[in-house]
Amino acid sequence: MAAPARVRAPVAELVEQARAGSPRAVARLITLVEDAATELREVARLTAPLAGRARVVGLTGSPGVGKSTMTNALVSAYRARGVRVAVIAVDPSSPFSGGALLGDRVRMQDHASDVGVFIRSMATRGHLGGLATAVPQAIRVLDAAGFGVVLVETVGVGQSEVEVAAHADTTLVLLAPGMGDGIQAAKAGLLEVADVFVVNKADRDGADATARGIRQMASLSDGGPGDWRRPVEQTVATRGEGIAAVLAAIDGHHAWLVGSGRLAGRRAARASDEVEAIAVAELRGRIGSPGGGVGLGALAAEVAAGRLDPYAAADRLLADL
Ligand code: GDP
Repeated sequence: MAAPARVRAPVAELVEQARAGSPRAVARLITLVEDAATELREVARLTAPLAGRARVVGLTGSPGVGKSTMTNALVSAYRARGVRVAVIAVDPSSPFSGGALLGDRVRMQDHASDVGVFIRSMATRGHLGGLATAVPQAIRVLDAAGFGVVLVETVGVGQSEVEVAAHADTTLVLLAPGMGDGIQAAKAGLLEVADVFVVNKADRDGADATARGIRQMASLSDGGPGDWRRPVEQTVATRGEGIAAVLAAIDGHHAWLVGSGRLAGRRAARASDEVEAIAVAELRGRIGSPGGGVGLGALAAEVAAGRLDPYAAADRLLADL
């Protein structure tokens, strides 16, 4: 008789272990999410009712502004408050480049022996819906596991990375003096998504000028009655300077979200994007699968040959689904 296949811990068991504080169980749940494993739906089903308590803080900015240094400093600051904190570092680069793993090792050093800290890089590998579905579900796993704060760090270069950070409860945009300042941030769409601006590397020349520039730009869009006036903090992340003020700004924004009733709206917007991304991924999967009605290939050939217009073809494709 063949040896029985190694039985994988059922998802329910993993969720229970994760809630009891097992970092391994948390990691395995996130791997299921990241790999879009068959258990993904069960992970979502079991974690959804347990989530909703964590504060989600996004952190984005150009490469080199000090995001991982700042994340590290924020983790220490939250730990000093006794808050369990998880970090999702969205890494758009290939998981095989070694970048993600090296990054994790460097990040982990300060918190390696602390079970109140969980740090994980995520790539989009194999995930149909990409970041837009994987990250919110990973947040839900961490939330359900009882982390009080989930920091989502993304590089502010691609649209989807910026969007992921923008769907936090509070989004920090990091800048540094002499890195194209506000103009570059504006181009990357970072200004609109910021709830708190942080000019890091304030030990360098030009930090005051950068902060002034950002304040000016922010004041053009802020300031309606009842609006959140976006603060501009200066930090030296490597020395932990200004971190307390950043934490206070995050707290202030959270209090404003709650007081103005906008927290629920933020979270609904995040869920809306997530549901849409799942549905679109599902549709794509069905369109691409063979045997489903007329088939994309046949319709495309008709369009290419001029026998069918593309809108009529799309209608037929959708009708067949
Ligand atoms: P990321 O690419 O945005 O994650 O940036 P990192 O956190 O990796 O930082 C990039 C470099 O800037 C590293 O060499 C850091 O040590 C350095 N750095 C981070 N914060 C500061 C700061 O406040 N002042 C100075 N002078 N250097 C900093």
